[in-house]
Amino acid sequence: MSAVSVSSRLNKGLRQHYLALPQGDLCQVTYVWIDGTGEGLRSKTQTLEREPQGIEDIPEWNFDGSSTGQARGSNSDMYLVPVRMFRDPFTLDPNKLVLCEVLKDNRLPAEHNLRSACSKAMEEVQDLHIWFGMEQEYTLLALDEHPYSWPQGGFPKPQGPYYCAVGADRAFGRDIVECHYKACLYAGVKISGANAEVMPSQWEFQVGPCEGIEIGDQLWMARYLLHRICEDFGVIATLDPKPMTGDWNGAGCHTNVSTEAMRAEGGLRHIEEAIEKLGRRHRYHIRRYDPHGGQDNKRRLTGLHETSSIHEFTVGLANRGASIRIPRQVGQDGRGYFEDRRPAANCDPYAVTEAIVRTCILGETGEEELSE
Ligand code: ADP
Ligand code: MN
Ligand code: MN
Ligand code: MN
Repeated sequence: MSAVSVSSRLNKGLRQHYLALPQGDLCQVTYVWIDGTGEGLRSKTQTLEREPQGIEDIPEWNFDGSSTGQARGSNSDMYLVPVRMFRDPFTLDPNKLVLCEVLKDNRLPAEHNLRSACSKAMEEVQDLHIWFGMEQEYTLLALDEHPYSWPQGGFPKPQGPYYCAVGADRAFGRDIVECHYKACLYAGVKISGANAEVMPSQWEFQVGPCEGIEIGDQLWMARYLLHRICEDFGVIATLDPKPMTGDWNGAGCHTNVSTEAMRAEGGLRHIEEAIEKLGRRHRYHIRRYDPHGGQDNKRRLTGLHETSSIHEFTVGLANRGASIRIPRQVGQDGRGYFEDRRPAANCDPYAVTEAIVRTCILGETGEEELSE
């Protein structure tokens, strides 16, 4: 078992005194970036002389990439390039959180900076006004890394009563969900909902719909807020796509997609065309839907527990056991959006949305073998 912080047990009332001290015109800006695992987040803070009014007022910065798995020791300075600014819900106005892209010393994107390529693809298709809404599932763990509120070393009653549940015997960790929701609203993260999931101590929040590159920015900052809030409460939020083996649901990141044409009268035809293209390129998508080329998702996409098999591409109206689901309402209206249910909870949204654009809009067709 790894070491975990017990600072959640410190006196938080005392902390309030210091957080309320005036800070003059000075502004704390916390830079947030994706590390060399493609899944972890890092952040560090600096003081600016005055409150930035927009992203252009926030200077580039740098960090030691050899300590984050992003550079070798001898040439370790990496650039942090601010891309989207949020209000800081922890230290409050005027302080900011800023999501950054990471560049190497030659100013090319670092290995795990998938935003750079994604934003180029999004620019190519901007006339289509593509929207994405992502459903982030996650699992709360206690500091012993067993699911939060599960009996020590044991299991709760079988799945059934937990999805969207209320009650102390079935909803575990709602404080975190509610604090996260409020923190997102304050920060300016486009959260659109939250619910308890099928596995006890598993929850979901939804982000979007957002156009183009913005969905990835919004989802990454929503994840950052979740991890920070969990730190305060002394629990861990894992994005592992299958935290518990056995008869327990895994965690995905369903990705809902529409173009302007799909949303317009008769749009179902465009939805069906996009799905047909996805069906010809299943393995390519699986490779991009978790940070390990399909290895993480293999544990989740079994064909059971509201998933499709990783080896098959299937489509269904209102079918939660399919790779792609067309929501019932969309079938009835003849327009709207479709849902790609394959992405893992720990996917990089930049990789997922770029792959969808490349296949469905840019018409790319190449397949790739699944890594062993
Ligand atoms: P379910 O659990 O039934 O699959 P949710 O309510 O959890 O659905 O999530 C629906 C998602 O679909 C939300 O993230 C929302 O932003 C997204 N969404 C809704 N309309 C559109 C649209 N036209 N284009 C893309 N995404 C959409
Ligand atoms: Mn959902
Ligand atoms: Mn869900
Ligand atoms: Mn869904």
